[in-house]
This record gives sequence, structure tokens and C-alpha cells, in this order.
Amino acid sequence: MDYITKYKGTSATINSRTWGKLTMVSESFTPASDGDLVVIIGDPFNQEIPLVRIHSECVFAEVFDSDLCDCADQLKIAMERLTANNHGLLFYLRFDGRGAGLAAKVKATALEVQGFDTYESRILIGVAPEGRNFRKIGEYLKLHGVSKIRLLTNNPDKGNDIEKAGVIVVYEPLIIEDPSEKVRRLYKTKAEKFRHTISKSYT
Ligand SMILES: [Zn+2]
Repeated sequence: MDYITKYKGTSATINSRTWGKLTMVSESFTPASDGDLVVIIGDPFNQEIPLVRIHSECVFAEVFDSDLCDCADQLKIAMERLTANNHGLLFYLRFDGRGAGLAAKVKATALEVQGFDTYESRILIGVAPEGRNFRKIGEYLKLHGVSKIRLLTNNPDKGNDIEKAGVIVVYEPLIIEDPSEKVRRLYKTKAEKFRHTISKSYT
């Protein structure tokens, strides 16, 4: 049964112990076989410039509290910002391993633990350093009448992909204060090799 096609666009409103009322919408933006989520806070589609975060799943950090990356912290800070704003959208994309999936992520992480950075480890195992594309998010926003967003990100690729769908992007940085040594190393790689906008004071 193709549940994605059958249930795409349906929603359920849950009560989060941490974040309050969240409406989870079933959508599909990535090749993941069981779909992606749009998490709606308040009434973002009736705001002049909705606040948006595009988050890629990271099981190691979000479920198992890995110290190699800042993904769980970024998700938490994004949710803090969105709920403090009372209205917003979080796209929860099943792009673990920057789109390469869990098998490749395990292999790349084994190399990261040995000291290779996230860019080098992916090259070494033959995976594209960045395998994600965010254009479908832009198309979704456009379809829902959104022509301009405030995007919580340090990654200009996300904004560029969204602008290709005709949505104007205003960038708002999303950085964790006081990063650990390992996260500083990751920020340095993100800034130097993935061209993310991260101030030198965090690397
Ligand atoms: Zn991560």
C-alpha cells in the first residue's frame, strides 16, 4: 500500500509536553519511503512573512544524543524561536546523512570518529558531500500562498533552492552559543567546505 500518496496532506494536532500544540502534516519532499512532516505552529500562512525552519533528520543526535554534531540543538533552538513567535513552520525532512541515508551515515561517521571531517569522510566513501535539494519546499510554500519567508538557517543553499521556486528569503542565523570543541570543528568545516554563513567566533 502506498500510504504516502493515500495520506499526503492529512494532519493531526498533538500536544507536545515541551512545545504545546503542534499540527503535524503528512507530506513528501525527500526520497524517504515513509514520508516527511510539516510541523505547523499557530497560523503561519496568515502572517505577512512566516518564520520557517527546514530541518534534516539526524537520528544519532536527536535520538541517541551524539556529541559529533549540533543537529539536536538546532532543532531545539528552532522550536524555541518558532514557538516564541507563536506562528511558524518547521519542515522535518528525512534527509539523514545529508540525504545519503543511514547506511552511508554509519560508514561516514566511523571515519569522523577517526578524525576525518564530515566533508572528507563523505568523499572517502564515495558519497556526494551535499546530497540534499530544497526546491520542493519552495514549491510547497508557493502553493500555499507564501511569497516571502524568514528562514532560520546558516546555509545559503537552502535559501537559493527556495528562491528558485519564486519565494523571497530573508535569512536569520541559527547558531548554538558556546559550542563544544567537536561542534566548533564541525562549524569550521561547514563554513569552509559547505559555504555556510558562520561567524569565525564559532569556529
Ligand atoms: Zn547530526
